Amino acid sequence: MNYNIAVIRGDGIGPEIVGEAIRVLEIAAKRFGFSLSFLDVLMGGRAIDETGVPLPEETIRVCKASSAVLLGAVGGPKWDTLPGNLRPEAGLLGIRAALGLYANLRPAVLFDPLKDACPLKAEIVSNGLDILMVRELTGGIYFGERGRSQSIRGEEAYDTERYSVMEIERIGRIGFEAAKKRGNKLTSIDKANVLESSRLWRETMHRLAKEYPDVVYDDMLVDNCAMQLVRNPSRFDVVVTSNMFGDILSDEASMITGSIGMLPSASLGDGTLGLYEPIHGSAPDIAGTNAANPLATILSTAMLLRYSLNQQEAADAIERAVQKALEEGWRTADIAAGKPAIGTKEMGDVVCRLIETA
Ligand code: NAD
Repeated sequence: MNYNIAVIRGDGIGPEIVGEAIRVLEIAAKRFGFSLSFLDVLMGGRAIDETGVPLPEETIRVCKASSAVLLGAVGGPKWDTLPGNLRPEAGLLGIRAALGLYANLRPAVLFDPLKDACPLKAEIVSNGLDILMVRELTGGIYFGERGRSQSIRGEEAYDTERYSVMEIERIGRIGFEAAKKRGNKLTSIDKANVLESSRLWRETMHRLAKEYPDVVYDDMLVDNCAMQLVRNPSRFDVVVTSNMFGDILSDEASMITGSIGMLPSASLGDGTLGLYEPIHGSAPDIAGTNAANPLATILSTAMLLRYSLNQQEAADAIERAVQKALEEGWRTADIAAGKPAIGTKEMGDVVCRLIETA
């Protein structure tokens, strides 16, 4: 079995961390008896430099024809002064839209050997922390009608939150299906005490919940969720929510794990094609110094194997290898807490070695 993977190395630390992730994928593929072909395409700052646009048509074509897309990170100060539609980040929004990726999955896991990095008190996370945030990615207020007007109160601006039953159902299903593969628990977040769009969200989720009687389902208001994430985060398994609430809550959930360099993400749509990337940015401050932590990107490849290629064993092996690397005490500078650290490449070497036995 051979799979084509489109690779967007991107800017800043992107090429360094993606290089390690590809080495890990190749070793996992060899061990579990399948093969991968990688095809490099441009997006973000490098694409602007080489083609004049952040998302060339050729990139969309190759990504659509692939089984999955692996992305490092894009952006950097060099391109910060360009107009919005020509900035590297426009490439990110563009590729998600072009591939129809409406669901963003972000696990927030506290690895036991790194629990000192968690900013919460030890007793709060004594039961561990393993949350999957499922965020709607292509609807809601970020894509609704907006504008400015003059009234007797002076200048005004407005943004519109709009969701259809179809949009809520399809993201809701991703939440329920993900819960079935994990702890069988789904919490849907809304603001149904105030917003009409949230009332439709809640009604639709309740209807859907009847189709998944084995999943323990509950609703929570967004303000309460923000509180519970720092008060009792272990109560959550899978959390599903709208675009804006998800944007904010997924950052909060990530930060309570304490290590931005450890967190992967997946963006999915209706088919199996997905886009996999670390949650962090291009870290221009450490680019080219072999100091970046490649583990978030390596863990993104485990999600790629699980969700797009259905290679569960290989995905498990990568996750186990990362866990083992941490247990053996290997750390890059961002998670070393003052102790000796190894570089990007050396961390890649450690994970590659451990996959052979994981
Ligand atoms: P950032 O995530 O790049 O960096 C924040 C801090 O975390 C920096 O100190 C950085 O050195 C550190 N860091 C990030 N990833 C790390 C890793 N793997 N290992 C070790 N340390 C790591 O966020 P920023 O500085 O706000 O943004 C830098 C650029 O990245 C900007 O141009 C921004 O637009 C872009 N960005 C891109 C994406 C993306 O491609 N999906 C996401 C966020 C930001």
